[in-house]
Amino acid sequence: MTSEEGRTGPPSGAWGGIDCEESIHHLYDFLDGELTEDRRRELRAHLDSCAPCVKKYEFEAELRRVIANRCKDRVPDELRRRVAEAIDLERSKNKG
Ligand SMILES: [Zn+2]
Repeated sequence: MTSEEGRTGPPSGAWGGIDCEESIHHLYDFLDGELTEDRRRELRAHLDSCAPCVKKYEFEAELRRVIANRCKDRVPDELRRRVAEAIDLERSKNKG
């Protein structure tokens, strides 16, 4: 289930911006608001034409919202499991 990983991005160079790998690399900086204006613009240009990356960004944004609200509301078990799995995945990814 890793068919979304890289490989089949849109043709690069059209906007002189970034590719999928880079957009995912900057995902957390973007969500943390730590990107420069230039970077954000490049990123948005990429997201404009790349649905898979938009999905990833939306998922992460939602994930953060869920985590932020976790204390306030009761979260359905299934959603909580999804979040826990995603966190585990990120943890193992960020190890190296
Ligand atoms: Zn992309």
